[in-house]
Amino acid sequence: MAALTNLLDLEPAGLLRWCGDLGEKPFRAKQLQRWIHQFGESDFSAMTDLAKSLREKLDAHAIIAAPAVISDHTSADGTRKWLLDVGNGNAVETVFIPEENRGTLCVSTQAGCAVNCRFCSTGKQGFSRNLSVGEIIGQLWLAETLLRRAKGVPQGPKGERQITNVVMMGMGEPLLNYEPTVAALKLMLDDNAYGLSRRRVTLSTSGVVPMIDKLAGDCAVALAVSLHASNDKLRDELVPLNRKYPLRELLAACKRYLEFAPRDFVTFEYCMLDGVNDSDTHARELLALVADVPCKFNLIPFNPFPESGLKRSNNARIKAFAQILMDAGVVTTVRKTRGDDIDAACGQLAGEVQDRTRVQERMQKMSAYQEKYGKDFGRIVEIPG
Ligand code: SAH
Ligand code: SF4
Repeated sequence: MAALTNLLDLEPAGLLRWCGDLGEKPFRAKQLQRWIHQFGESDFSAMTDLAKSLREKLDAHAIIAAPAVISDHTSADGTRKWLLDVGNGNAVETVFIPEENRGTLCVSTQAGCAVNCRFCSTGKQGFSRNLSVGEIIGQLWLAETLLRRAKGVPQGPKGERQITNVVMMGMGEPLLNYEPTVAALKLMLDDNAYGLSRRRVTLSTSGVVPMIDKLAGDCAVALAVSLHASNDKLRDELVPLNRKYPLRELLAACKRYLEFAPRDFVTFEYCMLDGVNDSDTHARELLALVADVPCKFNLIPFNPFPESGLKRSNNARIKAFAQILMDAGVVTTVRKTRGDDIDAACGQLAGEVQDRTRVQERMQKMSAYQEKYGKDFGRIVEIPG
């Protein structure tokens, strides 16, 4: 028998083709897509408005399987973090950040990351592999379903949406896993799936210049660029990708992107590292560097981890740095650190993954679970014991 297709791997056009191959009309694909992404349904027999013959075909050929949950923690400030199994001892994290008027999901695109920025613990972990479409969109599918369930909100378009914004700022460099990332973005924007506006979906990149241009044509969502330095010499050290795509090229790409972007500015992320990139001189150099790029700055207090040898700038320094940018008319925010108590803050998303022994232990439990429950594995599961 042919392998089962995981329908989470199919973006809207792909699902349409796949249903066509089964001899089904296009509107069936839309219906099915709504069941999957709006109702969070993974059981074909529950899709009551699909013909029984179609449900049987689906049962024989398809599965709806998000990555399995290894752990699920909620922080004192409401931030919720899931550790998800993506096979072969790899795990990635997804973080939900509730705020007064919105709920933001931070999704991962790779297990590990090859860019190896000096201040990032994901980078220190090295690159394991690219996530599939189903593993990327599966994070949104799973999180929305579980958040609704926890609040007693009904599934479907009428239920209050818990996730209103998505940021691709978890583990990995999204533009180095381009096709699956774009397919997942298309599902986020599709009215028969999550229906998010392009302004509410942000992709963060360390600066893969040719792919920034490609994204402008394929799926221009809001863009955040991890700058972290005010000159090439420093950025070469902090973000090794800068040696390939130096600042001049990166900023030119940002300007080109703005012609397609849903917002009229690029967000520059800047990780505040004590004594490294946080002086008044750096701030002024930064202003000159971005002078002709419409932008906002998001200063991220560095989240320390033991092997980094780096320290977070103190609050007074961050404030002074922000003031210089603001005095020059550049909108600047300082990112609040959320979920500190569960290691869900930026760049800490590798914490538990590095703890290989615990991951191995959980993996063993999961394979036992898989044997017991077969096809149900990979849906929303709680690891017993
Ligand atoms: N690879 C992409 C997206 C994931 S990283 C990128 O680099 O943009 C998301 C953001 O977290 C980036 O701006 C990154 O620079 C920042 N970050 C990484 N490690 C950090 C740390 N230890 N403290 C604070 N921010 C960090
Ligand atoms: Fe990769 Fe982004 Fe971390 Fe750099 S900051 S190593 S690009 S995940």
